[in-house]
Amino acid sequence: MKVKVNEKCIGCGSCISLTDSKIFDYNDNGLAECIVDEIKKEDEEVVENAITYCPTGAIEKVDE
Ligand code: SF4
Repeated sequence: MKVKVNEKCIGCGSCISLTDSKIFDYNDNGLAECIVDEIKKEDEEVVENAITYCPTGAIEKVDE
């Protein structure tokens, strides 16, 4: 599974907290970005939660 953060991100930090900054982190603009190329199987559940709880729907799954 691969994901990316799109332009709807408002930098609320929810996805970053949920993943302890290990999958999402702030970029230089104070917005979130995905910092791993591929989501490991064991991290998929927390990433699904991050997708669900993102207030702006900014986290997208990317077709592989
Ligand atoms: S939860 Fe959504 S809006 Fe908040 S920082 Fe993450 S991608 Fe951006």
